[in-house]
Amino acid sequence: MHKKLFIPGPIEVHPDILSAMATPMIGHRMKEYAELHGRVTTGLKSVLFTEGPVFLATSSAFGVMEGAIRNLVGKRCANFCNGAFSDKWHDVTLRCGKEADAIRFDWGTPVTAEAVERTLATGKYDSMTLIHNETSTGVMSPLPEIAEVMRKFPEVMFIVDTVSSMSALKIPVDELGIDSCIFGVQKAFALPPGLAVFTASEKALKRAAGMEGRGYYFDFCEFAANDVKNNTPSTPCISLIFALDCQLKKMFAEGLENRWARHNDLAVYVRGWLMDRGFNSFPAEEYRSQTLTCSRNSRGIDLASLKKNLDEAGFAFDDGYGKIKGETFRIAHMGDMTRTDMNELFGAIITILPDLA
Ligand SMILES: *Cc1c(COP(=O)(O)O)cnc(C)c1O
Repeated sequence: MHKKLFIPGPIEVHPDILSAMATPMIGHRMKEYAELHGRVTTGLKSVLFTEGPVFLATSSAFGVMEGAIRNLVGKRCANFCNGAFSDKWHDVTLRCGKEADAIRFDWGTPVTAEAVERTLATGKYDSMTLIHNETSTGVMSPLPEIAEVMRKFPEVMFIVDTVSSMSALKIPVDELGIDSCIFGVQKAFALPPGLAVFTASEKALKRAAGMEGRGYYFDFCEFAANDVKNNTPSTPCISLIFALDCQLKKMFAEGLENRWARHNDLAVYVRGWLMDRGFNSFPAEEYRSQTLTCSRNSRGIDLASLKKNLDEAGFAFDDGYGKIKGETFRIAHMGDMTRTDMNELFGAIITILPDLA
C-alpha cells in the first residue's frame, strides 16, 4: 500500500509527474535534450524572477550547498544557524576546509536582519549562508529584511537555501540580490528527489572563476560554460527533468499567484485546525512557515504511537526532527497539496484520537 506523504520531504508526488518520469529516454547531447533544458530553465527563470542563468545539478540539495561553499567562500563564511539544516551547512562549510563561524539562534526563532548586519559589519566575512525556511523547526526567516541589509555588504556572497519555500511564495531572486539561490526539487516543487536547481549572479560567477579548489562536479564555471549550449557538465537525471518540465507546466496553468495563495491558505488552515485543538505553534507566530507547520506537542499525545497508527492507516507522519523529536511534530502542506488532502489526514488523526474531534 502506498503511504500518502505528509512528512516535510520528500513530498507526495502527483501521478501526472510520475507519468512524465516514464517518458522514453533521450541522450543529453541530442537536440531534444537542449530543447528540454532550454524550456525548463526558461520556466524556472519566471518562477525565480531572475534573468541570470539557472543551473540543473544531478544531486540532492546538499550537493549544490557544498558546491556553493567550494565556489564562493574565499576569506571566511558566516553560517546563520537556526535549525538542523543550517547547522549541517556550517558543518559542511568546515568539512570543505573553509574558515567559518556559526551564528546561532535558538531553534524556533528566525535569523534576524539585525544579527546579519552586526555580524557582517565586523568585516571578517566574504560570504554568508542562510536557510530561508528551516524545515526542521518550521521557521521562515525574514528574507526581504535580510536582503535589505545585504545591500550594505556587496563584497559578501549572499547564498540562500530555498529548498522548502521556492514556488510556495514569491522569492524574487534578482530583486533580493541573492548571489546563489539553491533548492532541491523534492520539497516545495513536489518532484521525486535527485535534482537540485541553483542560480549564480554575475558577481558569484566572477568569484568562482578565481577560486581555488572548486573541484569538478559542482564547479559553477563548468555549469555556466555548458548552460550557453542548454546543457550540463555531466549526464543529468533526464527523467527528473521531464518531471520538472511537467511540473512547471502545471504551475503556470495554476498561475504563480494562485499557487502562492493556495500555500498561504493551507498554512492558515492547518495552523487553525491545530490551534483549535490546543496545539501551540513551535515558532513565533510571525515567522511560521508557509509550507509546513511545526507544532508543539501541547496535548502531550503519544506521537510515536500516533505515527505508527497513521502509518498503518496509509499516512506518513513526522514526529519531529533532531533534538525536538517527540516535543514537536510537523505537517507538510506544500507542493500540490490541497485542503482535501489535509482533511484526509485530519480525518485519520481523529479516527485514531477521537478526543481531537
Ligand atoms: C531537506 C532540506 C535540505 C536537505 O536537502 P537534501 O536534498 O537532502 O540534500 C536542505 N535544506 C532544507 C531547508 C531542507 O528542507
